[in-house]
Parts: sequence; C-alpha cells; structure tokens
Amino acid sequence: MQFTQLDSDILSNFDSFDDHEDVRRFELTGGIIAFVAVHNTNLGPALGGCRMTNYDSEADAIHDVLRLSRGMTYKNAMAGLPLGGGKAVIIGNHRTDKSEELMQEVGAAVESFGGSYITAEDSGTSEEDMVAIASQTGYVVGLPPEMLSGSEYGELGGNPSPLTALGCYHGIKSAIQHRYEGRKSLADMTVAIQGVGAVGLALGTLLKQDGAKLIIADISEEGIEAAKKELGDVDVVSVDEIFGVQADIFAPCAMGGALNDETIEQLKVEIIAGAANNQLWQSHHDKLLAEKGILYVPDYVINSGGVICVGYEYFRKSDYNPQDFCIERGSMVAHVESVGKIVTKILQESQKRELPTGETADILAEERFLKGAALSDSNPEDSSNSAQSDGMTMVQ
Ligand code: NAD
Repeated sequence: MQFTQLDSDILSNFDSFDDHEDVRRFELTGGIIAFVAVHNTNLGPALGGCRMTNYDSEADAIHDVLRLSRGMTYKNAMAGLPLGGGKAVIIGNHRTDKSEELMQEVGAAVESFGGSYITAEDSGTSEEDMVAIASQTGYVVGLPPEMLSGSEYGELGGNPSPLTALGCYHGIKSAIQHRYEGRKSLADMTVAIQGVGAVGLALGTLLKQDGAKLIIADISEEGIEAAKKELGDVDVVSVDEIFGVQADIFAPCAMGGALNDETIEQLKVEIIAGAANNQLWQSHHDKLLAEKGILYVPDYVINSGGVICVGYEYFRKSDYNPQDFCIERGSMVAHVESVGKIVTKILQESQKRELPTGETADILAEERFLKGAALSDSNPEDSSNSAQSDGMTMVQ
C-alpha cells in the first residue's frame, strides 16, 4: 500500500496539529483520497473511527483528521482505556463513492500502521464496511458479533450505540447529583433531547424508565414517529424550538456544534449532558456556559460508552490487554457505567479548580496521557478488580 507520510513542515500549517505521531495520505481506487492520523499512543494503540464525507479540499480533511484524532486521545484517556487516539477520514460521498473494493483498500491502509492504529465505524461508514476492512487487517472493531468466533466473542461485538446511551444516562445521573446536592432521581425532571437517532432514542428510553419527562426534536419525521412509538408520551417540538424549551437538562444527541452564541442564549436549562460529539461550536463556549450557570458535562467524557464497548472488543480479539481487564460483557458494561463516576470526578475538580468543566476534563486527560496519572474514580466494578481499577499505567 503506497502512502505519503505528512511531515511536520506541512502539518504545522494547521492549527489543529498537535505533534501528531503519524499522519498519512492514501490515494485509493478512483483517485479517492484518505488521511489517517495517529495523534498519541502513550497509553496504547490509537483507536478511532473511519469517517467518510465530502470535504471542500484536502486541507479541510487534514484539519478534520488532526482534530478528530486528537479528540480520541482525550476521550480514550478519560474513559480509562489503555488506548491512544487516532482517526481516518475518506474524502467522498458515502452514498455514491463507496464500494467494497474501496473499503478493502482502507483495510490495507489501516494494516500499514502495523497495529498503531485501530479503526471502527463512524459517520459515513457502516458495520458492512468494517467487514470489508477486516478482510485486509485485524486492526478493526465494530464487527458483527457473528463474525467473532466463539460465543464469548459474540457477547462483545455489535452496535455500540446502546452502550453510548447507557454511559450518557449514568453521566446525567451524576450531573443531577452534583447540581442538586445528592439528588438521585430523574422523576419529574424534564429532559430536552435534540436528535432521537440510535443514541438519543436509547437514552430517552432509559430516562423515561426513571420517570423523566421528555421533549424531543429531530429533523427526520420518520425518526420522530419511531420515537413516539417507542417512548409513548413525549412532547415534540421543532428543531429550532428545542434550544429554548423549559427543561432541566438539554441532551444534544444530533450533530456537532449545537452549542453556539445563538443557541446558548436561548437555553433555559441548568444542565447540558448528551451524546453528540463536539457539542461546543468553539472552545470558549465552555466558559460562556459556566458564566451562565449552566453545568456542561464534557461531550467526550459522557459519550465514551461506545468506545469502551469497541475497546473491549479489541482486547478480546487481540492479545492486547495490558491491564488484564476482565473481558466479559458484564465487565464492559460495568466500565461503561463508570462513566458516571468519571463525570462526578470532573465536575468536582472543575469546582475545586474554579475552571470550566470542558477545560478541567482536558487537563485531567492530559495528566493521564502525558504524565501517566492514574484516573481515580474510574473503577468500573469494585476496588478488588485491579484490572479495571484506577491504577492505570502508561504503555510507552
Ligand atoms: P444517528 O444518526 O443515529 O442519530 C442522529 C439523529 O439526529 C438523527 O435522527 C437525525 O435525524 C437527527 N438530527 C440531525 N440533525 C439534527 C438537528 N439539527 N436537530 C435535531 N435532530 C437532528 O446518530 P447516533 O449514532 O445516534 O449519534 C448521535 C450523536 O452522538 C452524533 O454526534 C455521534 O457522533 C455521537 N456519538 C455516537 C456514538 C454511538 O455509539 N453511536 C458514540 C459517541 C458519540
């Protein structure tokens, strides 16, 4: 597989460049260009999804792959995983430009990293694409359970969205406990969910079971109908109205950039906690939310259930398991549930350090992947299970 490695002379022109370890440009079938970036592998091989979307230019794609791969380093570090951050982007229309041959070439591109990058599904790619990639490399996760031989393998493969929702749910519970001095129940609280797709709908189901009232919005009429059927009694508002509704919690579960000057101005909620990636339009919106007294739960922390799920799949299918995690489904689910504890830790630290929550999460993540600090309070099971406890060691 031919590729060009981008050197720091080129990469330093991008403000999203952050001393990434390895960034490669691949020319694939039909002249389609893909970039793969490994940001940091201090904690272990870089895990992050493969996105396919149209970019206006190669420069835009490079900017995105740098930004997204860096984000994965922070996410994996805060999730307590022995994994670094990486990402792949393919420039093209996933509906018209994608083929099995293309995805097999992507598999070869992943293989060229020799294990320092592990790929997964992301926007514009599917489970089927991961199967095509798997024909060329073992460094891929998010495969259908039936592809992983052995019944225990089957317990770990599959769609991560329900696990992302589960982590979010525990993150929300921690946020209300923090905000309302020990409040445990969501009964009679109102949650506004923006986007009732795979994660938003599963999250809504969990919240509803706890007695929360829901207000939902989605650009897809079909999505709304499916949600009404699944959730029963919910209020539906338009996609513009969802920001200004009277609710306790706003859960962004659609696309990135939902929180900007205009939308923050409309918010009447006290907590923001949802699954979407890159919720803040710009980094200063973290501070703006804090100034407005809105408790923002950092997106990459609360939505890490999915990466925990596929991370365990990788530990199971490879020999890589440096912390001797118990790789059973129950332990993976317990790890996902521990997202709640990590959220609590960040909210408490943010209060102690008098810093916005997003900035606090970044500092704690950096302490972990740059300095090898233990991630306290991330023990997904109990203190007797040292594998999943907070004694995280650096894998250099
Ligand atoms: P999805 O495509 O299944 O659902 C997204 C929903 O948002 C769709 O129903 C879509 O119609 C709706 N939507 C799009 N734009 C909207 C708008 N402006 N207003 C209201 N609704 C809108 O995606 P998903 O897998 O549920 O992921 C949701 C978010 O969570 C994404 O940002 C994704 O990156 C993030 N995330 C997902 C996972 C996962 O496991 N699926 C993991 C981590 C993060």
